[in-house]
Amino acid sequence: MIKRSLKQISEMVSAANDINQFADVMITGVTIDSRKIKAGNLFIPFKGEHADGHKYVVESIRNGAAAALWQKDVPNAPADLPIIIVDDCLVALQELARKYRQELPVKVVGITGSNGKTTTKDMTAGLLSTQYNVQKTEGNYNNHIGLPLTVLGLNEDTDIAVLEMGMSGRGEIEFLTKLACPDAVIITNIGESHLLDLGSREGIAEAKLEILQGLRDGGLAVLHGDEPLLMERIHRYKGNVNVQTFGRNETNDLYPTEITQMEQGNSFKINVADVVFKLPVLGTHNILNALASMLIAHYFSIPFEKMNAGLAGIKLTNMRMELVEGEHGEKIINDAYNASPTSMMAAIELVSNLQGYKRKILVLGDMLELGPQEEQYHLQIGSGLQADKIDYLFTFGVLGGEIARGARKTLGEQKVFAFTDKMELIEKLKTFVDTDTLILVKASRGMRLEEVVSALQKS
Ligand code: ATP
Ligand code: MG
Repeated sequence: MIKRSLKQISEMVSAANDINQFADVMITGVTIDSRKIKAGNLFIPFKGEHADGHKYVVESIRNGAAAALWQKDVPNAPADLPIIIVDDCLVALQELARKYRQELPVKVVGITGSNGKTTTKDMTAGLLSTQYNVQKTEGNYNNHIGLPLTVLGLNEDTDIAVLEMGMSGRGEIEFLTKLACPDAVIITNIGESHLLDLGSREGIAEAKLEILQGLRDGGLAVLHGDEPLLMERIHRYKGNVNVQTFGRNETNDLYPTEITQMEQGNSFKINVADVVFKLPVLGTHNILNALASMLIAHYFSIPFEKMNAGLAGIKLTNMRMELVEGEHGEKIINDAYNASPTSMMAAIELVSNLQGYKRKILVLGDMLELGPQEEQYHLQIGSGLQADKIDYLFTFGVLGGEIARGARKTLGEQKVFAFTDKMELIEKLKTFVDTDTLILVKASRGMRLEEVVSALQKS
């Protein structure tokens, strides 16, 4: 993590005061949470809607912080303490991170996309760690606060930093990438999340492509090549760039062959090496995430043939698509964490392909924030179901009802049950399960479908 004297810090954040006798005080690391102060930290208080971090400045120094920032418009800055006064604490945090990154010799990999950022970040870090000293974004710290904090957490001897970049609107990725100055970037895919804010899938593609604006000249851009919206636009965002693509299509630089889906994960081969790769995570969309990571690892000179070790040890931040067992021995894929049409289709494909079950049931709920075409997106999920692969559909919620409407044509009236009451859904579902049943539970986070999973697990 960052280690600098207070004099250096005050220059980096363009201090409004003179820190005089504290110039030689050393700070180690930065925190914005006064409860997590470690000895030597620089504490950065934020003025939020409800709480004002400035209230904790004195206490944080008493608890071991070496110094703190203080925002100019907040009155009564304590005198005689190692405090740097700045115009705006958030801007100062970001400036500090920007300058620190410029001073570091570290190589940076930036990852964005609608789905799969965290997964791909974990996979990329896993592969690179087999040969390098790697640091990565913790959890989901991917925004205008999390990313600067992650950068300030980088050590001087770290070879490669793998950073997740998230967004909810235009300009946000541009800001993050210009701060992090990546040497290589990944755009995992273009989905439908944030359609509401960005208007169209074109708008989403453009917002993700902003990541190229901070990429160093001649750097590597790894793109999902099956997505025409990306390929059509890439050179508008950067002229001097080394583009490599991954995807399912054989037109890509890297694509999978011989995929086998199992309950423990996937195995697959690739077009450029005669090796069977084993990936301990579910769903073929995760093969795509792995391919993107493999292109990055290859760029950093790790041969494809040596990547199995890295893939086998992958530790995902949050086990998404978790496989759990219900009260009657039924298997449940719990993916109630979030949902968009892309990720919903990926999960349904997984269930369709898993072998060895007498009965496969989908429990699907509303996908939120999809904008004016939301009903259409739900209807399409239902109309895309295949009667020979899926036995029953249970839906929850008003939009979920649109999935049911589409599915009555594909699965048939008797196979589809639509609910707006979760308890009723659970009661009915319980009469359908036994040891040979596989159930997928998926919806947007706000639908709280994990309650269905726990009800099935409860004895
Ligand atoms: P967030 O925006 O919440 O940070 P994220 O982009 O980091 O999300 P992950 O946390 O890696 O994404 O995965 C979230 C969900 O997206 C997974 O549970 C899975 O259902 C789906 N998903 C992951 N990768 C892909 C992919 N390549 N294509 C489609 N869906 C995917
Ligand atoms: Mg994430």
